[in-house]
Amino acid sequence: MSYFRYIDKGEGPTKLFIGGVHGNEGAVTLDLIKRLTVDDFCDGQIYIYNFDRTPYISTLKEDFYKSEQGRKIISLIKYYKPDFYTELHSYNISHFNRLIGDGRWDAQGVPPLIDCGNHALCSSVSPLIRRRYFTRYDICQTLEFPAIRGEDRKLSEKELEEKYGFNRNASIEEYMKFLRLITISKDRSEFEKLVLADYPKQVDLAIKYVKQMYDDDFPQY
Ligand SMILES: [Zn+2]
Repeated sequence: MSYFRYIDKGEGPTKLFIGGVHGNEGAVTLDLIKRLTVDDFCDGQIYIYNFDRTPYISTLKEDFYKSEQGRKIISLIKYYKPDFYTELHSYNISHFNRLIGDGRWDAQGVPPLIDCGNHALCSSVSPLIRRRYFTRYDICQTLEFPAIRGEDRKLSEKELEEKYGFNRNASIEEYMKFLRLITISKDRSEFEKLVLADYPKQVDLAIKYVKQMYDDDFPQY
């Protein structure tokens, strides 16, 4: 069942959260979304969607935004006009090194994802929507949680720790920590301040990547 939650905290920024963007990621992201409490949010209007399984199409492809699921997400963005737009994704943990590697520039024309620690990854959103639907002042974030796929499903938590250094609880904690910086911030300057305090190395990388991706004065988030 698709999941929807609306939190009315009065005057403040509009925030839109989307889990289950594509494929079966919603099965992983729902548990994370449900950990958010009303107190995690600053004042404002909060809309949270988590979708059931849809065909997997990369958000880096125009085809995604032509698909039923992609069009649905665009219509939500156009309808709510969020000041904060966050996509909650999950990725195959065996792809970790590839996702944070410079090879992504050549393979997909986008920057690597940024390692926030404990296998939680972050980045901006697809360049296909970043400038088309948002102003430079909006906060657009993608968060990626590691999922165990394929043969790795046969491994115990201990074996996963040995193979990938993966600790599920530490990953959940890191992912939620970053997510809560988004939920609690009332505007861009507060978000930038909080991220810089907790993730200074990641901010350096984000600044470097955005300079390579967009023009120099485009904000890094
Ligand atoms: Zn995804």
